[in-house]
Amino acid sequence: MLKIENLHAEVDGKQILNGLSLEVKAGEVHAIMGPNGAGKSTLGYVLGGRPGYEVTEGSVLFRPRHCEERSDAAIHGAEDGLLRSARNDDGWINLLALDPDARAAAGLFLGFQYPVEIPGVSNVQFLRTALNAQRRARGEEEISAGDFLRLSREQAGALDLSMDMLKRPVNVGFSGGEKKRNEMVQMGILDPTFAVLDETDSGLDIDALRVVGEGINRIMRKADKAVLLITHYQRLLDIVAPDFVHVLAGGRIVKSGGPELALELEREGYGAIAA
Ligand code: ADP
Ligand code: MG
Ligand code: MG
Repeated sequence: MLKIENLHAEVDGKQILNGLSLEVKAGEVHAIMGPNGAGKSTLGYVLGGRPGYEVTEGSVLFRPRHCEERSDAAIHGAEDGLLRSARNDDGWINLLALDPDARAAAGLFLGFQYPVEIPGVSNVQFLRTALNAQRRARGEEEISAGDFLRLSREQAGALDLSMDMLKRPVNVGFSGGEKKRNEMVQMGILDPTFAVLDETDSGLDIDALRVVGEGINRIMRKADKAVLLITHYQRLLDIVAPDFVHVLAGGRIVKSGGPELALELEREGYGAIAA
Protein backbone atom coordinates (compact mmCIF):
# COMPACT_ATOMS: atom_id res chain seq x y z
CA MET A 1 0.00 0.00 0.00
CA LEU A 2 2.87 2.41 0.79
CA LYS A 3 6.41 2.05 -0.54
CA ILE A 4 9.02 4.47 0.74
CA GLU A 5 12.33 4.07 -1.03
CA ASN A 6 15.66 5.66 -0.19
CA LEU A 7 14.01 8.82 1.09
CA HIS A 8 16.30 11.77 1.73
CA ALA A 9 14.88 15.03 3.02
CA GLU A 10 16.16 18.26 4.42
CA VAL A 11 14.82 21.14 6.46
CA ASP A 12 16.48 24.55 6.32
CA GLY A 13 19.36 23.00 4.40
CA LYS A 14 19.93 20.41 7.12
CA GLN A 15 19.72 16.79 6.01
CA ILE A 16 17.38 14.88 8.31
CA LEU A 17 16.11 11.82 6.44
CA ASN A 18 19.00 9.90 5.10
CA GLY A 19 18.02 6.97 2.91
CA LEU A 20 14.86 5.77 4.64
CA SER A 21 13.10 2.78 3.10
CA LEU A 22 9.91 1.16 4.37
CA GLU A 23 7.14 -0.91 2.87
CA VAL A 24 3.70 -1.15 4.44
CA LYS A 25 1.09 -3.58 3.17
CA ALA A 26 -2.68 -3.35 3.53
CA GLY A 27 -3.88 -4.61 6.90
CA GLU A 28 -0.62 -3.85 8.72
CA VAL A 29 0.25 -1.66 11.67
CA HIS A 30 3.89 -0.54 11.79
CA ALA A 31 5.32 1.14 14.88
CA ILE A 32 8.20 3.57 14.47
CA MET A 33 10.31 4.13 17.55
CA GLY A 34 13.61 5.90 18.00
CA PRO A 35 15.56 8.47 19.97
CA ASN A 36 14.62 12.14 20.05
CA GLY A 37 15.80 14.01 16.99
CA ALA A 38 15.97 10.84 14.88
CA GLY A 39 13.65 12.24 12.22
CA LYS A 40 10.38 10.52 13.14
CA SER A 41 8.23 13.65 13.00
CA THR A 42 10.10 14.74 9.89
CA LEU A 43 9.02 11.50 8.22
CA GLY A 44 5.41 12.32 9.09
CA TYR A 45 5.73 15.87 7.77
CA VAL A 46 7.40 14.72 4.56
CA LEU A 47 4.63 12.18 3.95
CA GLY A 48 2.07 14.91 4.58
CA GLY A 49 3.80 17.40 2.31
CA ARG A 50 4.44 20.10 4.88
CA PRO A 51 6.08 23.18 3.34
CA GLY A 52 9.77 23.54 4.14
CA TYR A 53 10.45 19.81 4.14
CA GLU A 54 12.34 19.23 0.94
CA VAL A 55 12.78 15.77 -0.53
CA THR A 56 16.16 15.60 -2.24
CA GLU A 57 16.17 11.93 -3.22
CA GLY A 58 13.96 8.84 -3.14
CA SER A 59 10.31 8.09 -3.74
CA VAL A 60 7.02 7.40 -1.98
CA LEU A 61 4.37 5.37 -3.78
CA PHE A 62 0.85 4.94 -2.44
CA ARG A 63 -1.96 2.69 -3.58
CA PRO A 64 -5.10 3.83 -1.78
CA ARG A 65 -8.27 1.90 -1.21
CA HIS A 66 -10.42 3.73 -3.74
CA CYS A 67 -8.02 2.53 -6.45
CA GLU A 68 -8.41 -1.10 -5.34
CA GLU A 69 -12.19 -0.84 -5.23
CA ARG A 70 -12.79 0.54 -8.70
CA SER A 71 -11.51 -0.36 -12.11
CA ASP A 72 -8.83 1.83 -13.61
CA ALA A 73 -11.29 3.08 -16.19
CA ALA A 74 -13.75 4.15 -13.50
CA ILE A 75 -11.03 5.88 -11.52
CA HIS A 76 -9.73 7.68 -14.54
CA GLY A 77 -13.18 8.89 -15.50
CA ALA A 78 -14.13 10.29 -12.13
CA GLU A 79 -11.02 11.30 -10.27
CA ASP A 80 -9.79 14.85 -10.50
CA GLY A 81 -6.80 15.68 -12.66
CA LEU A 82 -4.34 15.97 -9.82
CA LEU A 83 -4.71 12.45 -8.52
CA ARG A 84 -4.90 11.05 -12.03
CA SER A 85 -1.73 12.77 -13.20
CA ALA A 86 0.24 11.46 -10.20
CA ARG A 87 -0.66 7.84 -10.94
CA ASN A 88 1.83 5.64 -12.74
CA ASP A 89 1.03 2.86 -15.22
CA ASP A 90 0.87 0.27 -12.44
CA GLY A 91 -1.81 2.23 -10.58
CA TRP A 92 0.43 3.62 -7.83
CA ILE A 93 0.24 7.29 -6.90
CA ASN A 94 3.47 9.26 -6.68
CA LEU A 95 2.64 10.80 -3.32
CA LEU A 96 5.42 13.37 -3.47
CA ALA A 97 3.91 14.90 -6.62
CA LEU A 98 0.73 15.86 -4.76
CA ASP A 99 0.00 18.90 -2.61
CA PRO A 100 -1.12 18.20 0.98
CA ASP A 101 -4.85 18.42 0.20
CA ALA A 102 -4.53 15.97 -2.68
CA ARG A 103 -2.60 13.57 -0.43
CA ALA A 104 -5.47 13.71 2.05
CA ALA A 105 -7.94 13.18 -0.79
CA ALA A 106 -5.94 10.15 -1.87
CA GLY A 107 -6.56 8.70 1.59
CA LEU A 108 -3.66 9.82 3.81
CA PHE A 109 -4.41 11.01 7.33
CA LEU A 110 -1.87 12.66 9.61
CA GLY A 111 -2.26 13.02 13.34
CA PHE A 112 0.31 15.09 15.13
CA GLN A 113 1.52 15.53 18.66
CA TYR A 114 0.14 19.05 18.87
CA PRO A 115 -3.18 19.26 16.96
CA VAL A 116 -3.81 22.66 15.38
CA GLU A 117 -6.46 25.03 16.66
CA ILE A 118 -8.67 26.74 14.08
CA PRO A 119 -10.55 29.63 15.69
CA GLY A 120 -13.78 30.61 13.95
CA VAL A 121 -14.34 27.27 12.22
CA SER A 122 -16.41 24.61 13.96
CA ASN A 123 -15.33 20.99 13.94
CA VAL A 124 -18.42 19.93 12.02
CA GLN A 125 -17.98 22.65 9.37
CA PHE A 126 -14.32 21.81 9.02
CA LEU A 127 -14.91 18.07 8.75
CA ARG A 128 -17.83 18.26 6.34
CA THR A 129 -15.88 20.59 4.05
CA ALA A 130 -12.79 18.38 4.22
CA LEU A 131 -14.74 15.15 3.65
CA ASN A 132 -16.60 16.52 0.66
CA ALA A 133 -13.46 17.98 -0.89
CA GLN A 134 -11.83 14.56 -0.58
CA ARG A 135 -14.84 12.77 -2.03
CA ARG A 136 -15.01 15.14 -4.99
CA ALA A 137 -11.32 14.66 -5.72
CA ARG A 138 -11.83 10.88 -5.75
CA GLY A 139 -14.84 11.25 -8.02
CA GLU A 140 -17.27 10.19 -5.30
CA GLU A 141 -20.59 11.74 -4.36
CA GLU A 142 -20.72 14.37 -1.63
CA ILE A 143 -22.26 13.37 1.68
CA SER A 144 -25.70 14.81 2.43
CA ALA A 145 -26.27 17.00 5.48
CA GLY A 146 -28.35 14.26 7.11
CA ASP A 147 -25.83 11.50 6.49
CA PHE A 148 -23.02 13.72 7.74
CA LEU A 149 -24.92 14.43 10.94
CA ARG A 150 -25.49 10.72 11.50
CA LEU A 151 -21.84 9.94 10.79
CA SER A 152 -20.52 12.64 13.11
CA ARG A 153 -22.92 11.59 15.91
CA GLU A 154 -21.78 8.01 15.57
CA GLN A 155 -18.06 8.86 15.57
CA ALA A 156 -18.33 11.39 18.41
CA GLY A 157 -20.33 8.88 20.43
CA ALA A 158 -17.70 6.21 19.95
CA LEU A 159 -15.08 8.57 21.40
CA ASP A 160 -17.22 9.88 24.27
CA LEU A 161 -17.15 13.38 22.82
CA SER A 162 -20.39 15.36 22.93
CA MET A 163 -21.92 16.90 19.82
CA ASP A 164 -21.58 20.25 21.62
CA MET A 165 -17.80 19.76 21.48
CA LEU A 166 -18.02 19.06 17.75
CA LYS A 167 -19.86 22.33 17.23
CA ARG A 168 -17.10 24.33 18.92
CA PRO A 169 -14.18 25.82 16.96
CA VAL A 170 -11.59 23.19 16.04
CA ASN A 171 -9.55 22.34 19.16
CA VAL A 172 -9.91 25.82 20.67
CA GLY A 173 -9.93 25.48 24.44
CA PHE A 174 -9.85 21.68 24.25
CA SER A 175 -7.78 19.85 26.85
CA GLY A 176 -4.96 17.60 25.63
CA GLY A 177 -7.16 14.54 26.03
CA GLU A 178 -10.09 16.19 24.21
CA LYS A 179 -7.84 17.16 21.29
CA LYS A 180 -6.77 13.55 20.95
CA ARG A 181 -10.34 12.28 21.07
CA ASN A 182 -11.24 14.92 18.52
CA GLU A 183 -8.41 13.74 16.30
CA MET A 184 -9.87 10.22 16.46
CA VAL A 185 -13.30 11.62 15.54
CA GLN A 186 -11.69 13.36 12.55
CA MET A 187 -10.05 10.11 11.54
CA GLY A 188 -13.31 8.20 11.95
CA ILE A 189 -15.21 10.65 9.78
CA LEU A 190 -12.58 11.00 7.06
CA ASP A 191 -12.09 7.21 7.02
CA PRO A 192 -8.57 7.26 5.52
CA THR A 193 -6.72 4.41 3.84
CA PHE A 194 -3.45 5.18 5.60
CA ALA A 195 -2.87 6.96 8.91
CA VAL A 196 0.39 8.36 10.24
CA LEU A 197 0.01 9.07 13.95
CA ASP A 198 2.90 10.92 15.55
CA GLU A 199 3.15 10.48 19.33
CA THR A 200 -0.59 10.49 19.54
CA ASP A 201 -0.20 8.95 23.01
CA SER A 202 1.93 11.70 24.51
CA GLY A 203 0.44 13.41 27.53
CA LEU A 204 -2.54 11.07 27.79
CA ASP A 205 -3.68 9.56 31.05
CA ILE A 206 -4.44 5.83 31.13
CA ASP A 207 -8.15 6.21 30.38
CA ALA A 208 -7.60 8.60 27.46
CA LEU A 209 -4.87 6.33 26.14
CA ARG A 210 -7.31 3.43 26.10
CA VAL A 211 -9.95 5.49 24.30
CA VAL A 212 -7.45 6.60 21.66
CA GLY A 213 -5.89 3.15 21.24
CA GLU A 214 -9.28 1.51 20.86
CA GLY A 215 -10.24 4.28 18.41
CA ILE A 216 -7.23 3.43 16.27
CA ASN A 217 -8.16 -0.26 16.35
CA ARG A 218 -11.81 0.35 15.55
CA ILE A 219 -11.21 2.78 12.69
CA MET A 220 -7.96 1.53 11.15
CA ARG A 221 -7.49 -2.17 11.99
CA LYS A 222 -9.00 -3.25 8.67
CA ALA A 223 -7.79 -5.46 5.86
CA ASP A 224 -7.78 -2.53 3.42
CA LYS A 225 -6.12 0.05 5.68
CA ALA A 226 -2.76 0.53 7.34
CA VAL A 227 -1.14 2.59 10.10
CA LEU A 228 2.26 4.06 10.84
CA LEU A 229 2.34 4.61 14.59
CA ILE A 230 5.16 6.79 15.89
CA THR A 231 5.52 6.26 19.61
CA HIS A 232 7.97 6.04 22.48
CA TYR A 233 5.84 3.84 24.65
CA GLN A 234 4.90 0.23 24.94
CA ARG A 235 1.68 1.23 26.70
CA LEU A 236 0.06 2.25 23.40
CA LEU A 237 1.43 -0.83 21.65
CA ASP A 238 -0.22 -2.97 24.36
CA ILE A 239 -3.54 -1.74 22.96
CA VAL A 240 -2.71 -1.30 19.27
CA ALA A 241 -0.60 -4.39 18.72
CA PRO A 242 1.84 -3.68 15.87
CA ASP A 243 2.73 -6.24 13.22
CA PHE A 244 6.18 -4.70 12.77
CA VAL A 245 8.38 -2.43 14.86
CA HIS A 246 11.13 -0.28 13.38
CA VAL A 247 13.87 1.77 14.96
CA LEU A 248 14.52 5.07 13.23
CA ALA A 249 17.88 6.64 14.03
CA GLY A 250 19.97 9.15 12.13
CA GLY A 251 17.28 9.56 9.48
CA ARG A 252 16.93 5.94 8.45
CA ILE A 253 15.51 2.63 9.65
CA VAL A 254 18.34 0.89 11.49
CA LYS A 255 16.47 -2.13 12.80
CA SER A 256 13.15 -3.87 12.14
CA GLY A 257 11.41 -6.69 13.92
CA GLY A 258 8.15 -7.89 15.37
CA PRO A 259 6.33 -6.70 18.52
CA GLU A 260 9.12 -8.17 20.67
CA LEU A 261 11.49 -5.45 19.42
CA ALA A 262 9.43 -2.79 21.24
CA LEU A 263 9.74 -4.74 24.49
CA GLU A 264 13.47 -5.15 23.94
CA LEU A 265 13.82 -1.39 23.38
CA GLU A 266 11.84 -0.63 26.50
CA ARG A 267 14.17 -2.91 28.48
CA GLU A 268 17.48 -1.92 26.98
CA GLY A 269 17.01 1.57 25.51
CA TYR A 270 18.00 2.78 22.07
CA GLY A 271 21.70 3.07 22.86
CA ALA A 272 22.71 -0.50 22.13
CA ILE A 273 20.49 -0.86 19.07
CA ALA A 274 20.69 2.53 17.38
CA ALA A 275 24.37 3.23 17.98
P1 ADP B 1 11.95 13.17 16.19
O1 ADP B 1 10.53 13.36 15.85
O2 ADP B 1 12.48 11.82 15.87
O3 ADP B 1 12.26 13.55 17.60
P2 ADP B 1 12.35 15.34 14.32
O4 ADP B 1 11.92 14.82 13.02
O5 ADP B 1 11.41 16.24 15.05
O6 ADP B 1 12.81 14.14 15.26
O7 ADP B 1 13.71 16.14 14.14
C1 ADP B 1 14.83 15.56 13.50
C2 ADP B 1 15.96 16.54 13.45
O8 ADP B 1 15.61 17.61 12.60
C3 ADP B 1 16.32 17.16 14.79
O9 ADP B 1 17.73 17.24 14.86
C4 ADP B 1 15.71 18.53 14.71
O10 ADP B 1 16.41 19.45 15.48
C5 ADP B 1 15.82 18.83 13.24
N1 ADP B 1 14.79 19.76 12.78
C6 ADP B 1 13.45 19.56 12.81
N2 ADP B 1 12.79 20.61 12.31
C7 ADP B 1 13.74 21.51 11.96
C8 ADP B 1 13.71 22.82 11.40
N3 ADP B 1 12.57 23.42 11.09
N4 ADP B 1 14.91 23.42 11.15
C9 ADP B 1 16.06 22.81 11.44
N5 ADP B 1 16.16 21.60 11.98
C10 ADP B 1 15.02 20.95 12.25
MG1 MG C 1 10.73 14.56 19.21
MG1 MG D 1 8.86 13.88 16.90
